[in-house]
Amino acid sequence: MKTDDLIALTDKNIMRTYNRTPVVLVKGSGALVWDSEGKAYLDFVAGIAVCSLGHAHPRVVEAIREQAGVLMHVSNLYYTEPQVRLAKLLVENSFADKVFFCNSGAEANEAAIKLARKFAYETRGPGRSELITMRNSFHGRTLTTVTATGQEKFQIGFEPLPRGFKYVPYDDLDALEAAITDETCGVMLEVIQGEAGVIIPDIDYLHGVRRLCDKKGILMILDEVQTGMGRTGSLFAHQDYGVTPDIMTLAKALGNGFPIGATLATDRLAGAFVPGNHASTFGGNPLATAAAIATVETILNDGVLDNCRRVGAFFLDRLKGLADRHGMIRNVRGKGLMVALELDIPGADIVRKCMEKGVLINCTNNNILRCVPPLIVTEMEVDQVVSVIDEAMRSL
Ligand SMILES: *Cc1c(COP(=O)(O)O)cnc(C)c1O
Repeated sequence: MKTDDLIALTDKNIMRTYNRTPVVLVKGSGALVWDSEGKAYLDFVAGIAVCSLGHAHPRVVEAIREQAGVLMHVSNLYYTEPQVRLAKLLVENSFADKVFFCNSGAEANEAAIKLARKFAYETRGPGRSELITMRNSFHGRTLTTVTATGQEKFQIGFEPLPRGFKYVPYDDLDALEAAITDETCGVMLEVIQGEAGVIIPDIDYLHGVRRLCDKKGILMILDEVQTGMGRTGSLFAHQDYGVTPDIMTLAKALGNGFPIGATLATDRLAGAFVPGNHASTFGGNPLATAAAIATVETILNDGVLDNCRRVGAFFLDRLKGLADRHGMIRNVRGKGLMVALELDIPGADIVRKCMEKGVLINCTNNNILRCVPPLIVTEMEVDQVVSVIDEAMRSL
């Protein structure tokens, strides 16, 4: 199909919920993707922190191929081996005792919210179901998770929104403490706010949230949909802070591009769910869990986390050098390979110029350039990307 025809047909047949760049991507390998004209790009979007092992990673491809030919899907009315193997892998490598599988970040958060409410209902009775979330957070697009998302721009026009959510500024413990009431059952937050533009809180903030939750007897829910699976240099971002949540959600990179989400919790919490309370037709099916097993094992065993930390530090250093040369860069920040350049001007032109020069980066919150490349990128690839951003900025 011709590129122009494909774009026209997309607009004709698909609901226009995305602002798409006029490029058709046809294949990928490692940190590279190619468009329909044969042009290559270094992909520092990676499906928005999804393809962490790079495109077409041989172990993930092989796991999917093999499982697809054996058993793709059966109902959760039955037991399957890939599902339990993935659950065991996640439990053994996290604080959690139990997992619920679903298909996306929003669904993982939806399950977390239901679990928190159910736990509160079982232990403290009805009417104690309020959750506190953060301003500028992002938790998904279902009606409940978009309500948990502390950004009005995603909510307008979709009212009535579900009740039971209250927002406080991120990285502000006093505001959080003041907001907790007898009705509060928990706090839900990101370890680093991704969609808001890689907002990294004070080093003691997570500890403070944990302390407040313990003091008030409420739950701490961490949305690690974007920060989890090695993105920040540890398997889960909260591990760097020595803080343990009660519930954690995962999705994005869990299947390296194969759709899968997970809600993890301690036994104390997980016991609030009994058969019939929650379900998902596709959740944890053999194909998705086989892809995720290959992904998690590769992240754990192939030096991926080390590479993420090393190349991430290199990237940040290079970008700080860039900031010395370009007045338009207001701030450079990041952890692992979750990196942002905050600008004094809108970022769209730079994103477009980078694309012309064969680099895909993403702009979030209008003026924040975000890079979330595969965790297997090399210093050389990072060098190339920084040069291209440099050129793009100089050409403005
Ligand atoms: C992307 C994201 C979600 C939503 O995930 P979907 O798979 O798009 O539903 C939720 N929380 C965070 C922190 C995210 O980055």
